[in-house]
Amino acid sequence: MSHPAEQDLALYATRDLTFFSRLTVDRHVRNCPACAETVAEYREITAELANATPQIEDWDILAAEMRANISLGLEAGACLPTTVSEAPVSWFSPRLAVAMASLMILAAAGVALRPDQPKPTPTVLAQQSVKVDTEGVTITNVYME
Ligand SMILES: [Zn+2]
Repeated sequence: MSHPAEQDLALYATRDLTFFSRLTVDRHVRNCPACAETVAEYREITAELANATPQIEDWDILAAEMRANISLGLEAGACLPTTVSEAPVSWFSPRLAVAMASLMILAAAGVALRPDQPKPTPTVLAQQSVKVDTEGVTITNVYME
């Protein structure tokens, strides 16, 4: 015979099981003295806990503890901005750094390899034709050097 899980027995003892689980455990416990005993023990413990109402005798100590917890929470909160400001560093991966460096080298090379001679500036406009058709206006400039 397979017994219900210990936690199911505990939940059954405190009537916190779901309906169908309770039916299953209930049927088992009726036929299993060992589990019935376990359930009985849980019920005893639960009853003792219910009777043992915590007595708060010193409210000042409790208040001091709560203040300490609040200040701890504030300190924890104060740490957050530091964490956030450090976060962008994590996405700056070495691979990205290499990619950026490569781009910069390419840009530098592009500037360095650009021919020194200036672009030939057209001085004489020899011909200008304007063609208008259904697709739009095409302006063709022909320059003489
Ligand atoms: Zn059992």
